[in-house]
Amino acid sequence: MAAQETVDNKYVYDFAEGNKELKDLLGGKGANLAEMTNLGLPVPPGFTITTEACKAYLATGAEPEGLAEQIATHLAALEQEMGRRLGDPDDPLLVSVRSGAKFSMPGMMETVLNVGLNDRSVVGLSAQAGGNDRFAWDSYRRLIQMFGKTVCEVPGEEFEHALDEAKRAKGTQNDLDLDADDLRGLVDAYKNIFAKHTGREFPQEPREQLDLAIRAVFESWNAERAVLYRRQERIPADLGTAVNVVTMVFGNLGADSGTGVAFTRDPGSGAQGIYGDYLANAQGEDVVAGIRNTVPLQELERLDKKSYDELLDFMARLEEHYKDLCDIEFTIERGKLWMLQTRVGKRTAAAAFVIAGQLVDEGLIDLDEALHRVNGAQLAQLMFPRFRLDHEFEPVARGIGASPGAASGKVVFTSARAVELAAEGEAVILVRRETNPDDLNGMIAAQGILTSRGGKTSHAAVVARGMGKTCVSGADEIDVNVPAKRFTVAGHTVTEGDVVSIDGTTGKVYLGEVPVMPSEVVQYFEGSLDPEHIDNALVRAVHRIMTHADGKRRLAVRTNADTGADAARARRFGAEGIGLCRTEHMFLGDRRELVEKLILARTDDDRDAALAALLPLQRADFEEIFREMDGLPVTVRLIDPPLHEFLPPLEQLAVNVAVAQERGEDVAKEEALLAAVRRMHEENPMLGLRGVRLGLVIPGLFAMQVRAIAEAAVTVTRAGAVARPEIMVPLVGAVQELETVRAEAEKIIAEVVGDSGVEVLIGTMIEVPRAALTAGQIAEAAQFFSFGTNDLTQMAWGFSRDDVEGAFFWRYLELGIFGISPFESIDRDGVGRLVRIAAQEGRAARPELKLGVCGEHGGDPDSVHFFHEVGLDYVSCSPFRVPVARLEAGRAAVETDGSDSR
Ligand code: PEP
Ligand code: MG
Repeated sequence: MAAQETVDNKYVYDFAEGNKELKDLLGGKGANLAEMTNLGLPVPPGFTITTEACKAYLATGAEPEGLAEQIATHLAALEQEMGRRLGDPDDPLLVSVRSGAKFSMPGMMETVLNVGLNDRSVVGLSAQAGGNDRFAWDSYRRLIQMFGKTVCEVPGEEFEHALDEAKRAKGTQNDLDLDADDLRGLVDAYKNIFAKHTGREFPQEPREQLDLAIRAVFESWNAERAVLYRRQERIPADLGTAVNVVTMVFGNLGADSGTGVAFTRDPGSGAQGIYGDYLANAQGEDVVAGIRNTVPLQELERLDKKSYDELLDFMARLEEHYKDLCDIEFTIERGKLWMLQTRVGKRTAAAAFVIAGQLVDEGLIDLDEALHRVNGAQLAQLMFPRFRLDHEFEPVARGIGASPGAASGKVVFTSARAVELAAEGEAVILVRRETNPDDLNGMIAAQGILTSRGGKTSHAAVVARGMGKTCVSGADEIDVNVPAKRFTVAGHTVTEGDVVSIDGTTGKVYLGEVPVMPSEVVQYFEGSLDPEHIDNALVRAVHRIMTHADGKRRLAVRTNADTGADAARARRFGAEGIGLCRTEHMFLGDRRELVEKLILARTDDDRDAALAALLPLQRADFEEIFREMDGLPVTVRLIDPPLHEFLPPLEQLAVNVAVAQERGEDVAKEEALLAAVRRMHEENPMLGLRGVRLGLVIPGLFAMQVRAIAEAAVTVTRAGAVARPEIMVPLVGAVQELETVRAEAEKIIAEVVGDSGVEVLIGTMIEVPRAALTAGQIAEAAQFFSFGTNDLTQMAWGFSRDDVEGAFFWRYLELGIFGISPFESIDRDGVGRLVRIAAQEGRAARPELKLGVCGEHGGDPDSVHFFHEVGLDYVSCSPFRVPVARLEAGRAAVETDGSDSR
C-alpha cells in the first residue's frame, strides 16, 4: 500500500526512468528525451516533472505535496552526475526549464534557459568557457530577459529597448559587436528593469529561480495563445504540460559549436536523404529568431566531420527505433554532439503515403501499420487539383471551403452563361448569392462555384462535392449583383468575364489567375496511370495501401450518384453500388414544364397525362444508371423535396404577373402558377410536404417512378446486364407510411418484372428521429435501411441544415459546444445514438436487414469509423469520396478489430 502511494505521488522522473510510451505523463518532449537516453544517445542529463504535477498545481494554485522534495532529490542526483552544483560560483551547473505537452504545441508555452546564473556564478561560467567573459555575461542577460518576461511578466519591449540602447551607444546594429563590458552594463540595466516592474531584485538564489521557472511553465498551459491553439487543434484542455529540467549545453561557444535541426527523410516529399539546417556558433533560439542564415545540414560534414558522421549514425538509429520519420534538434558544444529533442516528424499528405510505403519495403513496418500511418483526409487532399502557389497571391475574401480543390476561370453569374462560355472552351467560375437546383447545368459547366451565402451543407456545397467540383460558399465579404453581372469585394469590382481563382480547401478567393495542377492520384484512380509501370513513388504507395485497405475492410462502399457519368466515375473509383440516387434532379431542365403541368393539374386526367409523359424519361434515366452499374445494387430514392422547389420563386412570379397585367397581357397561365405557388408556400419546407408525404398526397407520382425503375431494370436485364434495383422511400416516420407505399409498389413490380428474373428490394431512409426510435416496427416493412444523416442531424438538433452553419456555428465552435460541425462529422452521442438504436432494433426485428448510410457523413473519415463500429453493411458517399471511404473503412477494420477481414 505504501509502495503504491509512492508511485501515485511520483511527480519527477529522471530521463533514465521514462520511455516514449509515457507521453501522457511526461509530455512528448520528456518521453522522447527519456527514450533517447535509454538508447544510449548523448542527451544532456536531466529530469521531467509530470503533467500530473502540473494538473495538481493548476487545480489548487500550489505545488502538490512532495514535489519540492522530489525535485531536490533529482537535482542532487543530477549535480552528482555532472560533478557541478546548480549555480555554484566557481563551476556552475546551469539548466533549461522547458515545457512539453503530450501533443506538440510549438512556441505556445514557455521556456527559460540558463537557470542557475547569478552575480557570482557568471564568473564561474566564464572560467568554464575558457575565460570567455562575453559569453558568460551574454548568457546572464538572456536569463534575466527570459525570466523577467516569462516568470514575472515584465514587458519584453523594455529589454529590447535597453538592448537597442546599448547597441546605439556602441554605434552598431549587431548584437555580436557588444563586448563583455557592454553586456555587463546591459545586465545592470536589465536588473533595474526587473526591479522596477516586480518591486524586487532579480533572484540570486538558484533554487528559487528554478522553482519560479517551473511554476511559470505550469501556468503557461493556460496562457491565452495556448488556449486558442488547443481549441484550434482540438487538443483537450485538461492534459497539462510536463516540465523538463535539462543540463544546459551551449552552441554559441565558438566556431566549433553550433546548433541545428534534422529530418531523417524529406517531410515534404518523403524522399530518403539528409534534410536539415545548421547554424554555427549559435543557440537554438537564434535559429528561430532568424538572426543569421542557416546552412544546409550537409555543410556540417565539411565543418565538423566527426559530429556529422555521429549525427547520421544517430539519425539512422532513431529511424530504426521509431520506425518512422524523425525530426531532431541538436547542439554541438565545442565539438561534442548533444541530442536535444526528437519526435516523429510532421509531414505532408504525399510524404505520409510515400514514407509508409518505404517503411514497408524496408521491413520496418507491415501493411496494417502502413494503413494506420495514413488517413482519408490526407488522401482527399491528394485528390484535388492544387494551386501552384510559387509566389504569394493575396486572397481578397475568405469563405467556407465547401468542396476542395483549386479552380480559376472567368466569372459568370448565370447558369446559362456558364454553359455558353464553357461550350466555347472557356473555364468559368459560377458566382451566385446561393445556388438552387436550376443552377445545375451551370455548375456542371463551371470549373468552380463561388457563393456569398450558405454553409457546408448548402445546395451549392452538397452538389459541388457530389460532382467533385471546387466550391467556396458563404464568402460574405462578396456582394453579388446578378442583374448587373458584377460583384464587389474589398474595394474591387469584378464584372462578368474577369478571372478569379478559388481554393475550395481553404475557402480563399483570389483575383486573377493562379495556376493549377491536376492530381496524379485521381489519374491513377481513373485508370490513366498504371502504378506497376510508372516511376511515381506516390502513386505506387497509394495503390499498395488502398489494395490492402480493400482486403481488410468490412464495410462496403457505395456512391451517391444520379447520372450515368457519375455512376461510371464512382465505379472506377471503386464504388460497389449506388447507395443513393436522388431522383429529384431528374425533374429539372426541360422536364420542368411537365412537372409544372403535374403540379397545376386540375383533373385526374391532366395529372395522369403529365405522369405518363414523365414515365419514359424516368425509365431512360434509370436504364442508363443500371447499365453503368451492371451487377451492382442501385438504391433509387423516390422523389423527396417539396414540389414548390420546381416552381419559380413566389416574389419573382408575383412581380412578373403584376407587370404583365399592367401591360394588359394574357396572364392566365402565370396566374394559375402563382396561385399554386401561394397554395404550396410553406413556412418550414424542410418539415413540410416532402418525401413520402408527397407520395401519399399526389396519386400516381411514386407509382410512376416505381414503374419506371422496374421497367428499366427489366429492359437492361433482358439486354444481358444485371440490374439490381432497391427502391427507397424518403422521410418515413411511421411504419404505416411505408406500408402504404410498399403495397402499391409491390403490385406494380409484380406486374412489370414477371418472369424476367429481376428482383426489386423495397426499403426506407431512416432520417426522421421517430423512424429511428420505431425502427423495430419499420423493419417489418423494410428490406433495408439507409440512414439519411443529413436530415437526421437536422431534426435531432433542430438545426436548419441550409442556414445554421453560416449563421452561428462559428460561435458554437468557439465555445467548444462541438469541435466540428455535426453536419460534417457524425455527432456520436446524439445522432449516432439514434443510428445505433435503429440498427439494433431493426436487426432484432429482421436479422437480414441491410444497413447503410447515405448522408454526407458516409464520406467523412471519422464517421466511417463510427459506422464500422455500429456494424453497418455499407457507407455511401459522393464519387470523389469513395477512395477516402475505402481507405478509412480499411483503417477502421485494422484499428478496431485487427484480424477482421471481409
Ligand atoms: C439525408 O437526409 O441524409 C439524405 C441523404 O437525404 P437528402 O440529403 O437528399 O435530404
Ligand atoms: Mg434527407
